[in-house]
Amino acid sequence: MQFEILKKDKEARRTILHLTHGDVETPVFMPVGTNGAVKMCPHECVKRAGSQIVLANAFHLYLRPGTDVLEKFGGLHKFASWNIPILTDSGGFQLFSLSKHVEIDDDGVNFRSPLDGSTHRFTPQKVMRIQQTIGSDIAMVLDECLAPGNDMKATEISLRRTTKWAREALEYHTRQDQALFGITQGGFFKETRIISTKEITSMPFDGFGIGGLSVGESFEKTIEMLDVIMPLMPENKPRYLMGVGDPVLMLEAIERGVDMMDCVLPTRLARHGAVFTSHGRLNIKSAAYALDDSPLDDECDCEVCRNYSKAYIHHLFKKKESTAMIFATYHNIYFLHKLMQKARSAIENGEFSEFKSDFLKKFKGD
Ligand SMILES: [Zn+2]
Repeated sequence: MQFEILKKDKEARRTILHLTHGDVETPVFMPVGTNGAVKMCPHECVKRAGSQIVLANAFHLYLRPGTDVLEKFGGLHKFASWNIPILTDSGGFQLFSLSKHVEIDDDGVNFRSPLDGSTHRFTPQKVMRIQQTIGSDIAMVLDECLAPGNDMKATEISLRRTTKWAREALEYHTRQDQALFGITQGGFFKETRIISTKEITSMPFDGFGIGGLSVGESFEKTIEMLDVIMPLMPENKPRYLMGVGDPVLMLEAIERGVDMMDCVLPTRLARHGAVFTSHGRLNIKSAAYALDDSPLDDECDCEVCRNYSKAYIHHLFKKKESTAMIFATYHNIYFLHKLMQKARSAIENGEFSEFKSDFLKKFKGD
């Protein structure tokens, strides 16, 4: 992987990642295709909406279809016919949030599959092997993602483990055509965040994920932690804030120097009828839109907004037509890509803070 910083506007950066399956311009939003597909959005639509890179999940793909299938097909790109870059999350977050009977020790994690209750063990080495079989452009190390509410002692034990696992992941990673990112953790204390960020960024990773944020803590807490972490991040490596897809938090993160973000939120919200607009979020299922002939967002030029009214999409949701979810998903992904594209132009022109305050004023309605 090659990485270039094209332009800086204070801390905000416009950068480019040259990956095996193509280039990615940042700031970038990465839609999530956990099982190798973005829900309610076929590959062609994902690309047409402006996606440069998609996420897949090593934990889910390991459980199903399994690495034997992926190996037979020569990796996920060939199996799923994806021709754009893929980033795989190691599954650290899913491991702790979805599995049953999780037992963690210093060398790895034992867990039961949420699919059939079968027992499995993940180690840093095994997670590297899975991602090398998947053949993603960017692999992530196995980390321990702590829920908010853990005390300092538990946080310290967890971050030591994440650091140990990161070192092991580096050792076991051999694929030259795959970039490997470390993940900083450290819970919700400044001290532990500083230790984790310094330890992880001292290792020769291609880039760095910021993990364990946006897991249920307040907006203010996320910002407080970002303000501690971001000044410690090395300048010459990409920075990926994991699990963030809220437009407001995305712009705050970019202003602090974040390059990459992903989240299931925009696609999950869409399936429930919630869509982003330049004037904030609205739920199209509301009766208020039954006779509304305007598009989802009058400032959006996506194919859905150019062709269909709120009233029609409202009707499709009411009748539980899957096309309703497809339309809303396409629009939400497009909306975030457009937002990132505008952020890139604003950085290019040295106008990011004006762009951010103009967007937020309208989006928050104040
Ligand atoms: Zn639209």
